[in-house]
Amino acid sequence: MPTIIKQTSMTINGEKVNTEKTLPVINPAKETEVGVSPVASRDDLNKVVFAARTAFPKWAALSMEKRAEMLEKLADVIAKNREELARIFTLEMGRPINAAFGSYTEIDHAASWCRAVSNYRVPREVIEDTEKHRVERIRTPLGVAGLIVPWNFPVMLAMWKISSALLSGNTIVVKPSPYTPLTTLRIGEIAREIFPRGVFNVVAGTNELGQWMTEHPDIDKISFTGSTATGKKVMKSAANNLKRVSLELGGNDAAIVLEDADPKEIVEPLFWSAFSNTAQVCVATKRLYVHEKIYDEFLDSFVQYAKKIPVGDGMEPTTMIGPVQNKMQYEKVKDLINDAKRTGANIVCGGNVEDKTGYFIPITIIDNPPENSRVVTEEAFGPVLPVIKYSDYEEVIKKANDTSYGLAGTVWGRDLELARTVAEKLETGTVWINEFQVMGPQYPFGGHKQSGVGVENSLDGILEYTNSKVIMLKKK
Ligand code: NAD
Repeated sequence: MPTIIKQTSMTINGEKVNTEKTLPVINPAKETEVGVSPVASRDDLNKVVFAARTAFPKWAALSMEKRAEMLEKLADVIAKNREELARIFTLEMGRPINAAFGSYTEIDHAASWCRAVSNYRVPREVIEDTEKHRVERIRTPLGVAGLIVPWNFPVMLAMWKISSALLSGNTIVVKPSPYTPLTTLRIGEIAREIFPRGVFNVVAGTNELGQWMTEHPDIDKISFTGSTATGKKVMKSAANNLKRVSLELGGNDAAIVLEDADPKEIVEPLFWSAFSNTAQVCVATKRLYVHEKIYDEFLDSFVQYAKKIPVGDGMEPTTMIGPVQNKMQYEKVKDLINDAKRTGANIVCGGNVEDKTGYFIPITIIDNPPENSRVVTEEAFGPVLPVIKYSDYEEVIKKANDTSYGLAGTVWGRDLELARTVAEKLETGTVWINEFQVMGPQYPFGGHKQSGVGVENSLDGILEYTNSKVIMLKKK
């Protein structure tokens, strides 16, 4: 099976565009170059925005049924090219190809998400209809949408944005992360025949390209997923022309295990809620609070389970956890582990990062670190997890909420009444009870506090790509 990906090109105005300048894309399991990414210049960006702007009126004027048909075709070509896309995905991203939420699943989700969104229709609402007066609210597309995507779920998150933006009548410029551009560029290539020229554009480059997009006067909306620090920059520069922004940002999600939870039942789902995708999930469990009555029993089973999980190269069919996706993140997670060691933390699993090829960090679990330690207060975004003992529900809710983030959280226990009460008190956009990371095109997803602005998915998410317009008619 080839481990080098052929040159992938940008899609601008329906055409293949390569750049002289390129960036290496690194396989995180081997630290070898698997392909190169084009690097768009400012001039390329101006061209792509011009193409998207020119294509906009005709695209917006098409019926929603016609646009939905093309989205269905997009879902079909993604499904048809599943093997190739999953392979590119694992090589550039590191995610195990076969794991429960592995590369095949990411590609399958992208296709099914696109198909599901194509079934939505933006409603025309009649607010008032009397003998004398009729008031309707319609929705109009915004124009050119810039879609900026991170490296942890590069295809699925791109597809959330692509499908909603296109269905509601916007033309798009997609920008993947410089760490994981290849699968998205390839989707741009295989989608060229489907959409009219200028409707579906994919560009790639450095972080600077993202910055230029947020400043560009002819982009009307930025839908951004990434870190809170970058999200703040996006909001600032989007102010230039008062672009609409949707921001899906970082989190430091708490899981709260109630005293009546059965450790045997919850160890496995809780493990995956924290470590799936090498813990590089915005809604991963990043702080795990366990009631003192079951703390020791739980921690023991949790660590035993963790020790059995194979970590390795994602191309190996038995691997369940891959490497950290990139060197920057690898260094950041190592630094958090070293900080925990320096401050005397009790590391009960992992903790020793071997000096070997690949950005591999062992599953690391820390027993009851202080609430103000970095491993508790910072978003690790890598396989290191603090497990913290608590005794009082009000106190644990206060601790869980004592963060500037507010993305999601989970509650685990048999007393569903109590679990619901705790869930309602968490200051987050989503709370799962006795399950985790259940996502769907029908569920609105977004963060509170500094975890985001606006929502994605569901009709609410689609409407974020539209203007509200009220038409009032005085009847005779
Ligand atoms: P990042 O903020 O570094 O980069 C995200 C994207 O923004 C990339 O495409 C990058 O090239 C681009 N970018 C960088 N600088 C920019 C700038 N100044 N202006 C515009 N664009 C710019 O984030 P990351 O490291 O790729 O992703 C990890 C982060 O994303 C984590 O914090 C994670 O929690 C968060 N995330 C959030 C969600 C969510 O839905 N809330 C989902 C996935 C990841």
